[in-house]
Amino acid sequence: MQDAKRPDQFFQRALAEGEILLPKCDDCGGYHFFPRVLCPHCHGSAISWKKASGKGRVHTTTVVRRKPERGGDYNVCVVELDEGVRMMSRVEGIAPGEVAIDMPVTAFVGEAEGVPAVLFKPSEG
Ligand SMILES: [Zn+2]
Repeated sequence: MQDAKRPDQFFQRALAEGEILLPKCDDCGGYHFFPRVLCPHCHGSAISWKKASGKGRVHTTTVVRRKPERGGDYNVCVVELDEGVRMMSRVEGIAPGEVAIDMPVTAFVGEAEGVPAVLFKPSEG
């Protein structure tokens, strides 16, 4: 595996190329996030990168209040992906207060604070 010592950088580099990759342990088969050198489930070090399904559900959601001149309110949520990992992110494309727990969402590569980041939008259909 490439960049075994810097899995966070590997993840960010893939994101910059528009790909969401998740670390998956070859030993126990579990996914984890954030990327780590050792599997948090079994402490194995044989970790592969798999393309994320991008499908998930909102696990928790909060509206962060911000003055309009500073960009307005925004959403902060934790999304549980189908792979079983949770990511702190935000849902775009709807009003921050309309993001609901258990809402199906789809991941995309957007930008947060000037760097590529995994963001979510409501799933269609
Ligand atoms: Zn493992």
